[in-house]
Amino acid sequence: MCGIVGYLGKKALLPLLVQSLRQLEYRGYDSAGLSWFDSQSNQLKTVKATGKLQNLANALPPELMQETDATHPAYQLGIGHIRWATHGTPTLDNAHPHHSQNGEIVLVHNGIIENFATLKQDLQGKGYVFRSETDTESIVHLLEETMKQTAENTPFIDILRQTKQQLTGAYALTVMHQGSPERLFATRQQAPLVVGIGLNNDEFWVASDVVALVAYTNKVLYLEDGQLVELSPEGLKLFDADGQALSPRVETIVTGPLTIDKKGYKHFMLKEIYEQPDVVRNALSGRLSAVDAPIALENDAPYRSKQHGDSLPKTLDALVADVDRLVIIGCGTSYNAGLVAKYFIEQLVRVSVEVEAAGEYRYRQPVLTPKTLVVAISQSGETADTLEAIRQAKTSGARTIALTNRPDSSMAREVDAVIDVRAGVEVSVCATKSFVAQLVALQLLGIFMLEQRTPALPAQLALLPSLKQALLRIPVQMEAMLSDVDTYHKLAKKYAAYPSFLFVARGINFPVAMEGALKLKEISYIHAEGYSGAELKHGPIALLDEKMPVLTLLAGGSVFDKMLSNCQEARAREAQVIALTNEPIPDGYADTFMDVITYPACDELLSPLLSAIPLQLLSYYIAEHLGKDVDQPRNLAKSVTVE
Ligand code: GLU
Repeated sequence: MCGIVGYLGKKALLPLLVQSLRQLEYRGYDSAGLSWFDSQSNQLKTVKATGKLQNLANALPPELMQETDATHPAYQLGIGHIRWATHGTPTLDNAHPHHSQNGEIVLVHNGIIENFATLKQDLQGKGYVFRSETDTESIVHLLEETMKQTAENTPFIDILRQTKQQLTGAYALTVMHQGSPERLFATRQQAPLVVGIGLNNDEFWVASDVVALVAYTNKVLYLEDGQLVELSPEGLKLFDADGQALSPRVETIVTGPLTIDKKGYKHFMLKEIYEQPDVVRNALSGRLSAVDAPIALENDAPYRSKQHGDSLPKTLDALVADVDRLVIIGCGTSYNAGLVAKYFIEQLVRVSVEVEAAGEYRYRQPVLTPKTLVVAISQSGETADTLEAIRQAKTSGARTIALTNRPDSSMAREVDAVIDVRAGVEVSVCATKSFVAQLVALQLLGIFMLEQRTPALPAQLALLPSLKQALLRIPVQMEAMLSDVDTYHKLAKKYAAYPSFLFVARGINFPVAMEGALKLKEISYIHAEGYSGAELKHGPIALLDEKMPVLTLLAGGSVFDKMLSNCQEARAREAQVIALTNEPIPDGYADTFMDVITYPACDELLSPLLSAIPLQLLSYYIAEHLGKDVDQPRNLAKSVTVE
C-alpha cells in the first residue's frame, strides 16, 4: 500500500523526497507528508497535506523546494510518506509522519499494527495524548516510553529494537530522532523496505519500493523481516531482531529509472490496455520461438541469488516434472487469472488444479505434500496474503513458484522459482496488461508442464503446434481489436447510467466475466457481478428485468450453444443482453441481443486473452464517461501489503 521514502545526504532534500514519493504515487494514496531535520533551528519540521502529492508540494516552504544546489555543505535528513488509510479517515491529523509527545521522535509507517488498541490503552494510561486515529501513533509514543524506561545513553537503534519487540502486525518503519541528528533508522516486518546506498557509502535512501530510489543509485540492500538498519555519514549498520550486527548483502540492481509517462493517452489505464499486444510479444519472446520447439521457461529468480552464490535456484523442469497437483493462489485480478489457468491446465496437462483466494487459503489448514506445486500470482510480488500463503506452503514442504511482474519483490526472494510475467510497469491501479501477461505466463507454464512430464500424453502433445501457432497470432489479433474504439464510446454512453451489471459466461471465459465485473466495479463504482451461465437459474435470474444489462461472453467452442440458451433466458426476462462473441450469431437470435461486440476467432483455450480486452475498454469508457478518477480509483491501492 502507499509508500515510505527517506534520505540522508547532501542533495537538496525536499525536492528529492517529493520526487521519490512521486515514483510511488501509482500505488494509490489519500494523503502525504514529510518531516526533515532543520539544522538551523535544530528542530524536526513536518508538513502534511490531504489529497494529491501536489498539495503537499504546494504546502512546503518554497525556498526549500526551489533549492537547486547539487550538494549542501551539511548533511540533510528527512522522511516522507504517502498514506493509504487503514485506521482513521484520510485527514491531516491522521496523515504521516507522526510525532512523539515530546516532539523528539518522528516516524512514517506502512502497514498495520494489530495490537495497537492494547498499546494505545496502555500508553493513554501513562499520560500519552493521541492526536490521530491511526494505529501508527501508538508506535511513536511507545518509542518515547521505551526511551524513558531505558538507560540514558542507550543507542536509539536499541530503543527501536525494544519497541519493535512489542509490536505485532505488518509494518515498515522509518524513524528520525532529534538526539541523533545525522541518523536515519528503519526496520521491517512483513512489509517491503529497501535501502539505497550512495557511491561512497555516506549517502542513503530508504523506500518501500526500489522504484523510488533507482534514479539516484543502483546499490541497494533489501531488508529482511525483523532486520533493523541505522544509516549515518559513517555508513550503514545492519542488525537482526536480537541486536546482533549483520554484514549487509548489498546488490547492484539493473532496473532503470521508472518513466511515468502517459505517452499522449488520457489515462495510464488506456495506455496500458493499448500496450497489451507488445506485452504478449514480450512475454512470449525467447520462450515460444517456433511451433515445433518446446517452451523454454527459465527460473527468473532474483539476481540476488545469482550474485551471492546462494544455493542455486531450482530449475523449472525439476519443479514441475512429477507434481501431482497444482494449487494456484492470488488475490483480485491475480485470482481471476488463476481461475482461467485451472481450465487451461486441467484440460491440457491433466493435472488437478485448485485455485484459491490467498486471504482465505492462509487461514485454512490446506493439505499439501512435497508433490504439490503452489503457484502464487501477484503483480507486485508484495501482496501480504499471498506472501503469507507461500510461507505456509513452504513449511508444509510444497514446491513454490511466484508468477510476478516484479522479480525483485519479497515474494520472488522466498520461492523456489520465479516466472517473470514481463508486463512492464503498470501504473494504473486497475490491472489490465498485468492480467493478460499473467494469463500468457500461466499458459506457457501449462504447455511447459505438458512437455516436461512423463509419461508423455501423446493426444495432448499433438494439440500443441496449433495451440502455439494460435498463441503467436494473439498480438496481431489484439491490435486489430484495439483499432476500434467507437464501439466502446457508444456502448459506454448507452449503459453508463445503469446501476448494476451482470457479466455471464461459461467455461474458460467464466473467470473473464468475473474479471470484467471487477474492472467495472473498481473504476466506475457501478455494482457488477460475474456469474456462470449455468448458475444463472439458481438465483441471479431473479435480478433480471429491463433495468439490468447482462453482458454475455459467447466464445466459439464447447459452451457456445449453452451460452446462447442462457442469453435467451435473460432476454425472456427483458434484460438488456449484450453479446461479446468471436463466432457468428446464428439466425433467429436477432431480437436476443441489444448490442453485439465481436472479436477475432481463436482457439477456445486462448480466448480469454482476447475477450478480456473489450471488457477493459468498456469499463474504461464507462468510468471516463462518468468522470471518475480512472487511474487512482477511490479506496484502492496498487500493491496490497496489508491483510
Ligand atoms: N495503518 C497506518 C494508517 O492508517 C498506515 C497505513 C499505510 O500503510 O499507509 O495510517
